Formats: sequence, structure tokens, C-alpha cells
Amino acid sequence: MRLLHGRPLAERLNVESRARADALRGRGVTPALDVVSVGLDPAANTYLARLVRAGTAIGIAVRDVSLAREADERTVMGALDRAGRDAAVHGILLLTPLPGKLDEGHLVDHIASEKDVEGVNPYNVGLLLDGRPRYVPSTAEAVTALLRFHEIRMRGVEAVVVGRSTVVGRPAAALLLNEDATVTIAHKRSADVAALTRRAAIVVVAVGRAGFLTGDMIAKGATVIDAGINVTPAGIAGDVDQESVAPIAGALSPVPGGLGTVTTALLLRNLLSAAERQTRD
Ligand code: NAP
Repeated sequence: MRLLHGRPLAERLNVESRARADALRGRGVTPALDVVSVGLDPAANTYLARLVRAGTAIGIAVRDVSLAREADERTVMGALDRAGRDAAVHGILLLTPLPGKLDEGHLVDHIASEKDVEGVNPYNVGLLLDGRPRYVPSTAEAVTALLRFHEIRMRGVEAVVVGRSTVVGRPAAALLLNEDATVTIAHKRSADVAALTRRAAIVVVAVGRAGFLTGDMIAKGATVIDAGINVTPAGIAGDVDQESVAPIAGALSPVPGGLGTVTTALLLRNLLSAAERQTRD
């Protein structure tokens, strides 16, 4: 069984990104990402700190625009609109989860589509479904990037994505479809998830439950991509039960060390693409 490590890919992406950031600075442009958060929760806080560190290492300014937990929808929309108008800001990221009273669906409409580096604005979602992705949620993009990097065939094979969230499952399925895989999306209402995953050459799991995918749910030799990030008493765990899956799978992305490492690198790459597009003469 091959382990599909993410770090070598992340390092390659970051080398390219540093060169692009240098070129932008050479033209007097400091690539900048605004991260809008509302009443930071601890997990989001850790994510933000990681983004600032990774951005700084590449030469990207990551600005924390934090709003009080009590902020209403209009206040958040105002912050997003301001960042949209600010020529010094090239990308906007709205940190989730948001406090329950805020409707994410309304807010993403206020992320300027040309600065929507997480690909959540409906315009960018539409481009992805149209087969000409511009900005795509980076966890989903990491799925196909990792498969390509490790030379796992996607064209013509059956792929099953378990999970249909806007940020992971759906865009991962759309990207696999764009790679000519034959794609099935499974979710809580699917009659028999295991019957679907057992058929697949590629299984992507994004359900948010440690140990969800077990060895009896996959075909011998299948490639398994684990998008899960679950906090367990034993530390961070994915959605895959590694012990039972490893002897059956042909390849498996580890958690930690798989998709997660690639995700941040792809997000920062998107930011550089946005800065280049916005500052082109
Ligand atoms: P989510 O919004 O909670 O979505 C979970 C999906 O899994 C839903 O579509 C749900 O189906 C499906 N599901 C849950 N239990 C299931 C079951 N027993 N059988 C079949 N399907 C089931 O979670 P998410 O944001 O996609 O995150 C998924 C995992 O990826 C989590 O571990 C998360 O930490 C990790 N992750 C998330 C992000 C992010 O940006 N959100 C980034 C990286 C990694 P229904 O739609 O039917 O409810």
C-alpha cells in the first residue's frame, strides 16, 4: 500500500509561489489576503495562525479582519464589501464556522468573485460546474492535485465521494468529473454507502467522523483520499480507519500529512493568481 504524502507536492507549490510573490513585489505589488472572521472559535484561530505563518513564508500579507461574535449580517457584508473595493487586497476568505445566526449563503454573495480565492461565491461555483474552474475550495482542489501528483489515473475510472458539503464533497466531485472520472456522490440518505464505495477505484471521504471508512467498504487496491480532520483523544484523525483500510487499499492519503498540507499551499497559489489578474497592465 502506497501512502500518498502531501508534503512533497506542497513544497513544490510553495517554491513556485515564492517566485510568483517575488515577481509581484518586483512590480511594487504586495500580494494580500484579507481573512474575515466573526467571533473566532479555537479551531478557526489555529487555522488563521497557520495561514499567517504560511503566507509570510511566501511573501503574502495575511490580514486578520476579525469582527465581534455579536456582528450581524449587515456588518459582515460591510466588511466583505470594503475588502472587495480595496485595491490593496487581492483575496478574501470568510472563516467558517460562523455563529449560527449568520447565513453563510447570503454572505458568500458579498465576496467579490475576482477575490474569492476559496471559490465559494456562486459565480465561481458555476464556473467549476461548467468545467472551467477559476477559484475552487482548496481542500477539494487538493484531492485531484494529490491524485495527479502521485500519478493515480482518474480518467474513465469510478470515483465515489462520500459527503456533499459545498466546501469539500461537491467541488471534489465536480473536479473528478472534469478529470473524466465517473463520479457518484454518497451522503447520509444514500441507501447503501458501502455498496457504492466497494465499487470504486477512487474513494474520497469527507464526512467528519473518525474511523468512518473501514476496510470492508472498499475494493482491493482502491485509492482512498481522506479529507477528514477530526479531533480525537488520540490527536487529529481522518475519516478513514487506517488499521482496517491499509491492508486492502492500493494507496491512501494519511491524516495528518496528506490533503491538509496541500490545502494551504493551493489557497495561497490562488491568492497569487488573483493578485496577478488584478494587477495586470
Ligand atoms: P459537513 O459539512 O459536516 O458535511 C459532511 C458530509 O458528510 C455531509 O454531506 C453528510 O451528508 C455526509 N455524511 C455524514 N455522515 C454520513 C454517513 N453516515 N454516511 C454518508 N454520508 C455522511 O463537513 P465538511 O465541511 O464537508 O467536512 C468533512 C470533513 O472534512 C471534516 O472532517 C472536516 O473537518 C474536514 N475538512 C473540512 C474543511 C472545510 O473547509 N470545511 C476543510 C478540510 C477538511 P448529508 O449532506 O446528507 O448530511
